[in-house]
Amino acid sequence: MTDGPTYGFDTLQIHAGARPDPATGARQVPIYQTTAYVFRDADHAAALFNLQEVGYIYSRLTNPTIGALQERIATLEGGVGAVCCSSGHAAQIMALFPLMEPGRNIVASTRLYGGTVTQFSQTIRRFGWSAKFVDFDDADAVAAAIDDDTRAIFCETIANPGGHITDLPKIAAVGDAAGIPLIVDNTSATPYLCRPIEHGATLVVHSTTKYLTGNGTVTGGCVVDSGKFDWAANDKFPSLSQPEPAYHGMKFAETFGPLAFTFHGIAIGLRDLGMTMNPQAAHYTLMGIETLSLRMDRHVENARKVATWLEEDPRTEYVTYAGLESSPYFGLVDKICPRGAGALFTVAVKGGYDACIKLVDSLEIFSHVANLGDARSLIIHSASTTHRQLTAEQQEAAGAGPGIVRLSIGIEDADDIIADLDQALAKATS
Ligand SMILES: *Cc1c(COP(=O)(O)O)cnc(C)c1O
Repeated sequence: MTDGPTYGFDTLQIHAGARPDPATGARQVPIYQTTAYVFRDADHAAALFNLQEVGYIYSRLTNPTIGALQERIATLEGGVGAVCCSSGHAAQIMALFPLMEPGRNIVASTRLYGGTVTQFSQTIRRFGWSAKFVDFDDADAVAAAIDDDTRAIFCETIANPGGHITDLPKIAAVGDAAGIPLIVDNTSATPYLCRPIEHGATLVVHSTTKYLTGNGTVTGGCVVDSGKFDWAANDKFPSLSQPEPAYHGMKFAETFGPLAFTFHGIAIGLRDLGMTMNPQAAHYTLMGIETLSLRMDRHVENARKVATWLEEDPRTEYVTYAGLESSPYFGLVDKICPRGAGALFTVAVKGGYDACIKLVDSLEIFSHVANLGDARSLIIHSASTTHRQLTAEQQEAAGAGPGIVRLSIGIEDADDIIADLDQALAKATS
């Protein structure tokens, strides 16, 4: 089928990027389990290596199974292209790599996935990059943090761990005014709940490990390009606007126009950083995406029921779910994620640290894991696990205080999820 805006989300999540296999007619996307591809002749090989013709050379760069997934995610996000890679963290590096040089910085939200905070505050320093963390509820503070060396703004749509919603158009306007791209991690919303490009994002990154695959089987990541940023408008992005020595002085922005970022991601990023997705992982994720809208509707419906029940329960102090009227982010749901506020939130339990530990150990349906976006319900007590190295003040600031647990609500029967929480809360607070 030809992909187009005429098709609805439910159709595109099954068909986008997937045509019957030209060699066999196979209806499902085959797993092209191959490292290399035979060139038609020497001229064909030369054209491929010069980027004069698009095709398959070697699976570190391109592979048809991964290509189908890239096209599907790009279509669902409303982007012009996408590059898949080995994990969500790889996607973040792949998104920043073409924009950054030693001495450059990004302005990032204080509310991010814990691993992203570590990647941005520690590891990227080895590349000479740095991050300034700002409260993204305050767009003026974001604007004030941008300096001459800033090359990107980074936030999450529905932010970890509390399910806070970012006012994307406001933040995108700050980026536009400064000539800086906005990168949005859309992992916990998925393109079904929010399409950040429609709100002004330049790039969208995903951990496909989570809801897109949907059942906790494979790690993967993706960078989607809106195709809307003019990389040659100023001299801030020389990797995209200036001659590339490794390709005979070709300029990506001039040669590939709106696809410059995507081509750079494959021809330089995957070629030299090598954070490639494998075809088997792409297959699992393609299967997962076929049911994305059905699962997300159920995740949201269950999260709403569970959060409402928890908020009314006298054994809890508060619940941070943005889908509750008590949330300061409730007013943003209709604007940013009209189909629902996702399924990730935190709960403060009466009885503090000890009660949280007992709660986690007493649950039967919930799994105590450092993951989110699985079909099954998950819980983590951040203060004793992912955030245990932090000081008490840092834990509070991160929404990971000792008396708080984070829930990722699955697609089981809501009544069973609630009953499990009920029995475990009874043990935890007795
Ligand atoms: C899990 C996650 C990541 C990191 O993805 P991996 O696939 O684990 O590398 C980044 N951002 C968010 C919001 C995540 O949930």
